[in-house]
Amino acid sequence: MTEKFTGNFTQQEPIPDEAIEAALAVLRHGRLHRYNVSPGELAETALLEQEFAAQTGAKYCLAVSSGGYALATALRAIGVQPGDTVLTNAFTLAPVPGAIASIGAKPVFVGVTEALTIDLDDLESKLDQSDVLMLSHMRGHLCDMDRLMQICDAAGVAVIEDCAHTMGAAWRGQKSGRQGVIGCYSCQTYKHINSGEGGLLITDDEELAAKATVLSGSYMLYERHLAAPGPEVFERIKYTTPNVSGRMDNLRAAILRPQLRNLEQQIDRWNERYVEIEKGLRGTPGLTIVERPEAETYVGSSIQFLLLDWSPERIALVMQRCAARGVDLKWFGGAEPTGFTSRYDSWRYVESAPLPASDRILSGIMDMRVPLTFSLDDCRLIARIIRTEVGAVFQS
Ligand SMILES: *Cc1c(COP(=O)(O)O)cnc(C)c1O
Repeated sequence: MTEKFTGNFTQQEPIPDEAIEAALAVLRHGRLHRYNVSPGELAETALLEQEFAAQTGAKYCLAVSSGGYALATALRAIGVQPGDTVLTNAFTLAPVPGAIASIGAKPVFVGVTEALTIDLDDLESKLDQSDVLMLSHMRGHLCDMDRLMQICDAAGVAVIEDCAHTMGAAWRGQKSGRQGVIGCYSCQTYKHINSGEGGLLITDDEELAAKATVLSGSYMLYERHLAAPGPEVFERIKYTTPNVSGRMDNLRAAILRPQLRNLEQQIDRWNERYVEIEKGLRGTPGLTIVERPEAETYVGSSIQFLLLDWSPERIALVMQRCAARGVDLKWFGGAEPTGFTSRYDSWRYVESAPLPASDRILSGIMDMRVPLTFSLDDCRLIARIIRTEVGAVFQS
C-alpha cells in the first residue's frame, strides 16, 4: 500500500488562549490605537517592544505594521536615498528587494552558496557598490556572521538584517538581528509568532531608533514608548523626519506578547520536527542535505534540500509525485514565480547581472514548511514519501 500524508502545510496552531483573552480585553476597552491610553496605562504595543528588546538584548525596539515595512523603515532611517544602490541576497523573498525599491533605491544581488547563505566572496567583490547591505537570513540559514561583519565593518558597509525566518535563532549564542546595526522581524502568520501581519525592528543606535519611531508615525507622542531613546534624541530629528505611517496596534501586540513568552518552547518543537525530517532524508541518492554550521542555533520552521543539477523536468516530476501523496514541495528555482516563491530574475524592475553559480543552486532548492500542527510521526511519514519519490525519479 502506498502511504499518503493528509495534513495541511499551511495550517498554523491556534492562537493560544492567553493571547485570545488579551485580545478580548483590548477589544472590550476599545483603545486599539497604540497612543490611545488611559492615565497611567501602558499600551500593549509599548509593552511588546519592551519585552522584545529584553528578549534580544537590544536597547531599542519598535513595533510596526509588517516585516517589509520594518525593512523599508530601516533603509530610510539609515538615510538611503532614491537612486542609491543597496546590496542584498539573490536568494530571498520578494518583500526584500521590494522594500529597497519602495524608497526608490536599487537592489544589487549577491549570490547564494550551497549552504543557502549569501556568497561572501561575491559580497566582497561588490562591497564598493554600496554603503548598505540588506542581509536576508532566507529560510533561517545564517552565513558565517563573524566573517560577514568583519568584511562589512572593514568596508564601512552598514548591515540591516532581515530576520523574518530567524526570530529566536542565534550565531554563537548571540540572537539573530543583533550583529547588524538594525534587525527586522515579521509577525506575519507564516513566521515564528503570528498576528496575521506585523513587524518588529531592533537597534542599539539611539538616532536610528528615534528616526524609525517618527517614521513609523509616532507624531509627537514618542514619549509613550518604553523601548525608545530619551526625548533629547527625538529633539534632534523630529523636524526633519517624515511620518510614513505604519504603526502596530494594541490588538496585534496583545496577541503577540504571550506568543513571544512561549517562543523558546516553540523553537524546540520546530527543531524536533526538523531533525526528524532531516534524519529521514539523509542518504537519499541524488538529494543533498543542507548542513547547519555549528555556530548556528536555528529555528526549523521550514526545511530545504537540494536536487543539484537535476533537470527542471525531473524536479517537476518529483514535485508531482510527492504532491500526489500529499507532500507539498516548493521549488525556488522555477522559471515562473508561483505562490510565495520567485527568483531574483523574476523581479524585472531590477537590472540584475547574471549569477550563473547561484542559478545552479537556485534551480535545485526544494523547500517545505514545517508547521507545528504536524506530529513527529507526520514528519517521519513525509520524509519517507520524499525519500521514495526522489529515489524513484533519480533511478529512472
Ligand atoms: C515574510 C518575509 C518578509 C516580509 O515580511 P512581511 O511581514 O510579510 O512584510 C521579509 N523577508 C522574508 C525573507 C520573508 O519571508
